[in-house]
Amino acid sequence: SAMRDHRIKRTKTVCTYCGVGCSFEVWTKDRKILKIEPQAEAPVNGISTCVKGKFGWDFINSEERLTKPLIRQGDKFVEATWDEALDLIAEKLGGVKAKYGPDSIGYIASSKCSNEENFIFQKFARAVMGSNNVDNCSRYCQSPATAGLMRTVGIGGDSGTIRDLAATDLVMVVGANPAESHPVLATRIKRAQKLRGQKLLVLDLRKHELGERADLFLRPNPGTDLIWLSAVTKYILDQGWEDQAFLQSRVNGFEEYKASLEPYTLEYASEKTGMTREQLIQVATMIHEAKSVCICWAMGVTQHLGGTDTSTAISNLLLVTGNYGREGTGAYPLRGHNNVQGACDFGTMPAWFPGYEAVESAEVRAKYEQAWNVKLPEQPGLNNHQMIETIHSGKLKAMYLFGEDMGLVDSNSNHVDSAFEQLEFFVVQDIFFTRTAQFADVVLPAAPSLEKDGTFTNTERRIQRFYKALDPLGDSKPDWEIIQLVANRLGANWNYQSPAEIMAEAATLAPIFAGVSYDRLDGWNSQVWPVEPDGTSTPLLFTERFAFPDDKARLFPVEWTPPFDPGEGYDLHLNNGRLLEHFHEGNMTYKSEGLTHKVPREWLEISPELAQERGIRSGALVRLTSPYGSVKVHVEVTDRVRGRELYITMNSRGEGAVNKLTSSYHDKITHTPNYKEMSVKMEVLEAS
Ligand code: SF4
Repeated sequence: SAMRDHRIKRTKTVCTYCGVGCSFEVWTKDRKILKIEPQAEAPVNGISTCVKGKFGWDFINSEERLTKPLIRQGDKFVEATWDEALDLIAEKLGGVKAKYGPDSIGYIASSKCSNEENFIFQKFARAVMGSNNVDNCSRYCQSPATAGLMRTVGIGGDSGTIRDLAATDLVMVVGANPAESHPVLATRIKRAQKLRGQKLLVLDLRKHELGERADLFLRPNPGTDLIWLSAVTKYILDQGWEDQAFLQSRVNGFEEYKASLEPYTLEYASEKTGMTREQLIQVATMIHEAKSVCICWAMGVTQHLGGTDTSTAISNLLLVTGNYGREGTGAYPLRGHNNVQGACDFGTMPAWFPGYEAVESAEVRAKYEQAWNVKLPEQPGLNNHQMIETIHSGKLKAMYLFGEDMGLVDSNSNHVDSAFEQLEFFVVQDIFFTRTAQFADVVLPAAPSLEKDGTFTNTERRIQRFYKALDPLGDSKPDWEIIQLVANRLGANWNYQSPAEIMAEAATLAPIFAGVSYDRLDGWNSQVWPVEPDGTSTPLLFTERFAFPDDKARLFPVEWTPPFDPGEGYDLHLNNGRLLEHFHEGNMTYKSEGLTHKVPREWLEISPELAQERGIRSGALVRLTSPYGSVKVHVEVTDRVRGRELYITMNSRGEGAVNKLTSSYHDKITHTPNYKEMSVKMEVLEAS
């Protein structure tokens, strides 16, 4: 009507934060965000959102946004034109490649950017620059889960959708805090518990919200998940509770696997995990009595020396009990960033082309070489952990990184900093001048999701479109446009007019995206990969076959790796994790007023027992020291943690930045840092 203001623009978008993948409308007038309006049509969240999705958007108008390219001059950065910045990048990256070879450059992609941006970034690294040295931040979080699932069922993603988590008999949550990290997914679990009597079993060091609500909450000792998982599985076999029909028709390797469980008796498990015999039997019984079981896990499982093996043990347990391929069953590694799933799916990994086809396969390479008309490198490249080590050994000379604050989120930051300082040339592309950007030679101003088109893939493999609501601020540009400009300066001849064209190319090359298209994804529509050529999605995997040549899953024997021990004097175990109001390194959320108002800074949780022993009260300032560095942080005394267990929110910055404490040790298989295996000493600096 004439009485309504039609200058208000309504744009469908997908949340820029966690892997749940909520979508909603954003209402804007000029550059002002008026509100976030959820719609019932949203496939994941309907009318729900969490506090980040609702209030976490004003960072886009922050005065700290980068609006011009910056070039380093000595210790300073000066504003430059796009031409100046691109000329310099072409000269320097081209120069490093010519002098030291294509593998002397590393490429870090972004889990905050779109599928299309990740696709052309890996194409740039591989086809234009000739290197497979391309990786993304899944190396810091869920790579061990992917690897554990690849070993056992052949596909590394969630085996069903969030709907399954609310349609099951029993949800197990291990080493994850969904109420803060994946809030809308957690509400689905809470609601199903209330309305349907769905059971909830939580195992964690810390009594977080779902721990409080659980039908059974248990606290195994740090780093011992593989032991109780194996003991519970062994007990299930000893009782004859396994799903024999499922094992016989659909699973290989049973005898060898069964033999590998011999050491995991209840006695041994109880000694190592601190759980009682009765508690172990209770867990086994709950699984046995449930007709369907889903297991969710996150970084409490993966960020350990044995993270891949523990993820494998979870999948083994699901296989033994026949909990794959039916509604309400399966494995759910919960993805952190809104597009960490998509960054992996679209090939920003050193050993995989888009759609998890191996770079080592001559056949797959031939397909890409023909499509792109180039010769491609044959060996897997360096992952981001190896890149840092290879800079230290003098062989990696330059990096190009976008949308990732590696200098804050990689473990052992002092070691990472000294690597960045040795780079001959470093390009950082972001919406803000991040901690990592301090080490750059050129900083390129990028545009956030509200200022461009694209798709994101959430934790359940669901691809959704987001639409441009505003023009890029100042001279900033969408990442895909910047990557194309850089590629063309370095010899490519690309002419992508839109992300839709990039997706069309990915769909012709990667079989799992065969039927993906922007038309089919229009509006509130979504597609869950693998997508058949006719556009049919696959929300539930493994209904008839597992992703191996003989269609059968594989039980994979694993052994426990004791957690890293820094030695004498480091008497407190320090755990870390997310916080509802802030996201990861906080680059976006700390610039959103409502969120920062509510939670202005990080904190450290200590137990009432420890507080009493050391005479510490809430509000005190303490210093934590590990063999790698130290931080200062304020204390909150709470029974969420117990004994000598500490917990620090990982969105910490500046003096409280948790990665000053973490080490460079990592998961044996995937090189994911063991962020959760940290011991420290604590001294009081100021009483409260
Ligand atoms: Fe965004 Fe995740 Fe919150 Fe949904 S649950 S609104 S995707 S942060």
